[in-house]
Amino acid sequence: MTLSVAFDNTYVRLPDRFFAPAIPEPAVSPRLVALNRPLAQELMLDPDALQSEQGLAMLSGNQIFEGSEPIAMAYAGHQFGNFVPQLGDGRAILLGEIIDRNGKRRDIQLKGAGRTAFSRRGDGRAALGPVLREYIVSEAMAALGVPTTRALAAVLTGSSVYRERVLPGAVITRVALSHVRVGTFQYFAARKDTEALGLLADHVIARLYPEAASEAVPALALFKAIATRQADLIARWINVGFIHGVMNTDNMAISGETIDYGPCAFMDAYDPSMVLSSIDQGGRYAYGNQPRIAQWNLARLAECLLPLIVPALGEKPAMDAVMEILNDYSSTFEQCYQNGLGEKLGLTEAQEGDLDLVKVWLEAMRTGNADFTLAFRRLADCAVASDADGALFDLFESRDAIAPWLDTWRHRLAGQQRSAEETRRAMRRINPAFIPRNHLLEEIIEAAIERDDFAPFDRLHQILSRPFEDQPDAERQAMPPKPHERVMATFCGT
Ligand code: AMP
Ligand code: MG
Repeated sequence: MTLSVAFDNTYVRLPDRFFAPAIPEPAVSPRLVALNRPLAQELMLDPDALQSEQGLAMLSGNQIFEGSEPIAMAYAGHQFGNFVPQLGDGRAILLGEIIDRNGKRRDIQLKGAGRTAFSRRGDGRAALGPVLREYIVSEAMAALGVPTTRALAAVLTGSSVYRERVLPGAVITRVALSHVRVGTFQYFAARKDTEALGLLADHVIARLYPEAASEAVPALALFKAIATRQADLIARWINVGFIHGVMNTDNMAISGETIDYGPCAFMDAYDPSMVLSSIDQGGRYAYGNQPRIAQWNLARLAECLLPLIVPALGEKPAMDAVMEILNDYSSTFEQCYQNGLGEKLGLTEAQEGDLDLVKVWLEAMRTGNADFTLAFRRLADCAVASDADGALFDLFESRDAIAPWLDTWRHRLAGQQRSAEETRRAMRRINPAFIPRNHLLEEIIEAAIERDDFAPFDRLHQILSRPFEDQPDAERQAMPPKPHERVMATFCGT
């Protein structure tokens, strides 16, 4: 069996200052611990070949395949608001690009395969825990219908990495529509390299936003398209209870995919001020701040794109046009968010008064400490029968607020065309039963690290691949943590 990978690279054709060549450091005794067979097929890679010795050689970085031109990408970024002019891929190596089954160009990247020109004091390695975390959470996001980078494989390297403690080293193979970030534009803007900014804009337009090419000012159209995709993405995060945790500009992908799963987390009980990341002391990246922070990041992107827009429009009109897009972002986000919430509540179209309906529901969840995911899931059953109310009430510490709300909601549903049963089914198609809860992630990581047992990882991954189906044998995985299981903080992968 031979593994053939039809690399077709474009990023590496850009000038040398866009990247640094990077050769993966060999893994001493690589072992495949996870392979995403459906994704392999989507990428037109033979899953059996990926599982062979040869496949392992690629996924561990031990062999450079024909056509692969491994590089580390250059980028800058605002980290917690502070600008760092040079970050770059310090522990990630782009092997190259391939065209998938649907004709889409995808990056294949190894994360944790050793040092690059951008590693600074880092070791270029990744620990098994964060690798499994990224694998399972990114795949769960995909199953939930949220745009995201994907995980193709996880490999143990056979060497240790040194963090607060000694941990097994691992490499994750990440797949993305593109790894260009807001920080990539910032890298060249900080160097006043307008030529590079133009080339980068052309590259992402050709690859991700081809419609922008034929607009009067392509860079402006590009900005608009990126802002729209970002508004949709953040609304989806909010509506599944996802907290990214480190929305630095270097962790915001131009493609609109969720990228760089570090100290990310899903909310259990609904709390808009929720912060889990141990490195986010000020709560900058709290759950409810994410829409605003995305806009802040987009403003930084706008600053980078202005040198491409001003020559076409003049200074003042360029500024005005960019500001308008930034303002539109807020209304687009609000629209995506409200539409999403409406759908989650079983509403077929918006009506006056819905905003209040939503507000009271969310507020009841917040004051009642109700589990965000289960509340929507159980509400679906309440659309049909009032004997389902008890299961919903069980999620709330007090039913004072929720009981009257339920009457109002049922009244609102009664005015719709579709039947209660149809509403229930529609709600169950978008309100998941299963999310990657923090306490479950900790369990599977511990089993893998402490006992070399990957069965819990496989099982959880399996469950999360069908988040909208009831799975009677996985009742425990649907439930929020018990008080002693609750995870109070999540940590970065580095
Ligand atoms: P992140 O936490 O993934 O957003 O990374 C921030 C920056 O630190 C990026 O430039 C990374 O490439 C770099 N970095 C993170 N961990 C490591 C590591 N173990 N070795 C080298 N560079 C790293
Ligand atoms: Mg990053």
